Amino acid sequence: MKDLKNKQNKENSFYSYCERGKKAGAAVCRLLLLAEKATQATEIPYHIVKSKKRRKTLLLTIERDGRVVIRVPYNTAESEIHAFFKRKLSWVKKKIDEKKKRVQDMSHPRRFVEGEKFLYLGEQYPLEIREPGKGRGKLALSHGVFFLNNDCAKKVREIFIKWYKERACEIFTERVNFYSRKLKLYPKEIRISSAKTRYGSCTADNKLFFSFRLVMAPYSRIDYIIVHELAHIKIKNHSGRFWRYIEEVMPEYETHKKWLSKNSVLLDI
Ligand SMILES: [Zn+2]
Repeated sequence: MKDLKNKQNKENSFYSYCERGKKAGAAVCRLLLLAEKATQATEIPYHIVKSKKRRKTLLLTIERDGRVVIRVPYNTAESEIHAFFKRKLSWVKKKIDEKKKRVQDMSHPRRFVEGEKFLYLGEQYPLEIREPGKGRGKLALSHGVFFLNNDCAKKVREIFIKWYKERACEIFTERVNFYSRKLKLYPKEIRISSAKTRYGSCTADNKLFFSFRLVMAPYSRIDYIIVHELAHIKIKNHSGRFWRYIEEVMPEYETHKKWLSKNSVLLDI
């Protein structure tokens, strides 16, 4: 499996796990980005995404990177958008504050020192530094502890990422195989990416990409992303039909989706 340097697609919403294919016409999430504006009228800037596919409703989301995005039907007047934003302003402020607080509470840059905890499949394990031994890998998870050889201190982050990618490859391949057989949906290829803002994606020609960061999440959450991306082999958009299909396969999918949105900041190294 090759690591793929993921091009970040800034158009996708916080709740979307898909990306555009690289070739023209390969778009899976087909939002049409016509305008991206920050207004000076309020202290919180917002960005407008006009879409020909959107019929009536205006949708406001707070993206993973904290941007406020309003998705609107193609011909919506700016005054209407601004009025809509003003109505939502107190909700937006509240959400932004909550997010900031959560990030402050829960995340700190990982320090690669003894006792620091690292996530794997939803559990945290402490790090211990040890003497290198014969036949031992540089990094191993054993009896609830991450053991790292003490001669690896300088490259410890890279070593962790390599370890996560290897586990991600094993686990995601196994889970994709399981759901592929169940759903009769077969991807052309599975790859592990280093994507920071997207857990998974499906290209127009049915190659599935999963970020190694997802292997830090519990199995049930991993399975949701796997089902989501496999479903794109059948339905290449996020229509009502798509979500009905996901619900059929995984009735509790909303819980997983919410958990992944909320905890994305933790699934990092
Ligand atoms: Zn999707």
